[in-house]
Amino acid sequence: MGENIPEEVMKNSALVRELADVAKDEALLQGVLMRIQESPNSSELVTYAPFTLFPSPVPKAVFLQALEVQTHFNTLVDKISQDSDFLQEALANTVEVDDFTARLFRIHQQILEEGRSQKIVLGLNRSDYMLDQREDGTSALKQIEINTFAASFGGLSSRTPDVHRHILKVAGRPEESRQILDNNPAAGLARAVAKAWELYGSERAFVMFLVEEVQRNIFDQRYVESELWRRNIPTIRKRFDDVCRSGSLDQDKRLFVDGKEVAVVYFRNGYMPQNYTSEECWDARLMMERSRAVKCPDISTHLAGTKKVQQVLARPGVVEKFFPDQPEAVKQIRATFAGLYTLDMGPEGDQTVEMALAAPDRYVLKPQREGGGNNIYGAEIRQVLEGLKDATQRTAYILMDKINPAPVQNYLLRQGGPLTLSNCLSELGAFGAYVRHGADMIMNECVGHLLRTKSSEHSDGGVAAGVAVLDNPLLI
Ligand code: ADP
Ligand code: MG
Repeated sequence: MGENIPEEVMKNSALVRELADVAKDEALLQGVLMRIQESPNSSELVTYAPFTLFPSPVPKAVFLQALEVQTHFNTLVDKISQDSDFLQEALANTVEVDDFTARLFRIHQQILEEGRSQKIVLGLNRSDYMLDQREDGTSALKQIEINTFAASFGGLSSRTPDVHRHILKVAGRPEESRQILDNNPAAGLARAVAKAWELYGSERAFVMFLVEEVQRNIFDQRYVESELWRRNIPTIRKRFDDVCRSGSLDQDKRLFVDGKEVAVVYFRNGYMPQNYTSEECWDARLMMERSRAVKCPDISTHLAGTKKVQQVLARPGVVEKFFPDQPEAVKQIRATFAGLYTLDMGPEGDQTVEMALAAPDRYVLKPQREGGGNNIYGAEIRQVLEGLKDATQRTAYILMDKINPAPVQNYLLRQGGPLTLSNCLSELGAFGAYVRHGADMIMNECVGHLLRTKSSEHSDGGVAAGVAVLDNPLLI
C-alpha cells in the first residue's frame, strides 16, 4: 500500500527545486509536450505539458470502480445514441432556448430523415469523476460528466507514468515509484479507430483528424496518429476550412477531402459554438455526418454527451429503461451519479431554482457547453438565476450537486510558473472505447485513465484552459 508523499520531501525546498528541474527534463525526454502559447501552430518551440511534481493519492477501491463501470457507460452512451425518441424528448426544451444544441439537433433530425449511411459506430469517450469526501473520511466516486466528443489527453497521459516514476526514484521513494500504474490510452483509442477503419474496408482510405485552428495540444493527438501509422493506417489532419474548400461526397456518399477518401472522421474540433466560424463550417459538419465515413462521434453520440441528457439520466427509471435485464449495470452506473436537477418550466424546475437560491454554494449551474470555464458557482448562481428564474432561458441550464474532494498538496509545474506548494483537487477520468457494427458490439473496453489536478482556488477549467495539470494516481 502506498502512502501520501511525506512532508519531509514535500517541504524540503532545496530538494523540491532540484526535483522540479529533473521533472521538466524528464517530461521533455518522455514526450509530454505542448507547443508554446506564442506559436501554437508550429513545433519549432515546444515546452512540457503542465504536470504535477508528485503523483496524487487516490483510494484504490474508487479507482477500480471507475475503470469497472466504464464499459457500462460505453453501452449506455451507445444505446442513447440509437434512441431518437429519447433524445428528442430529453432535449425538447433545451433546443427551444439554446441555439448551439438546436443546430446540432437539426443535423441529427436530418440524418434520421435521410437514414444513416454507415452502420459502423466508433465511440471514444472519457468519463470524469471527482471523489466526494464523506463525513466518515471515506470518499465516493461521483461523475462530473462524460465527454463523448474530442476527449483529450489519452496521448500525453500514456507518457506521464514514466515521468513520475523517475521523479520518485530521484526523490528516494523507490517503493512509490514502483506503484505508479501503467497507462496507455493512446494504444487503446488507436485500436478502436483501427477496427473501425478495417471495417470500412478500403486500404487507401484515410483516418481524418478534424483539428482545431489553434493546435497547442497537437502532441496529444500525434500519439494516436503514430499508433495508427504503425499499423499502416494513413492519417491526415484537416480543419473545417479544408473540408469546406475541398470536401465532397460521391454518389455512394463516400467522403473525399483534398482528393483523399476518408474512412473515419475523428472530430477533435466542433464541440463549441466558436469552432463554427462561418455558415460553411456547419455545412461541412452536415456533409461529414451525411457521409459514409465513420464519425467519431456521430451526431447522435455527440448529443448523448450533453449535460441535459446527463440530468435526464439521473431521473428515476431512465437508466433502468436502457438496461432492462442488467440490474447490476444499473446499480454500478447509478452509484456514480451526483444529484442532478431540471430547470425546465414547471413546479419541479421552480423547486430547483428555490433550492439553488437558498444554498448556492452547494451546487454548480451548468449550461450546454463543453471545454471548461462555462459553469457558474456560488454567488454568481444567485445572480444568474434571479435574472432568469421565471424565463424559459433557464432551461438552457441544469443544476448539479457540487462535489467536494479532499484537498491534497502538490506542486503544479507549468512553463514560466512559480514553484509553490498548492492546495489541490484532482479529477479522475476513465477512457472508454467501443466499436459497433450494426447490432454487433465488436469492441467495448476501458482503455486507460487520466488524473488531472488543479489548485483549489479554481472551481473550473481543464488542462487546455491552463487551469488543471496532468497527474498520476498513487493508489492508497
Ligand atoms: P466541461 O464540459 O466544460 O469540461 P464539466 O462539467 O466537466 O464541463 O465542468 C468543468 C469543471 O468544473 C470540471 O472539470 C470540474 O473541475 C468543475 N466541476 C464541474 N461539475 C462539478 C461539480 N458537480 N462539483 C464540483 N466541481 C465541478
Ligand atoms: Mg469536463
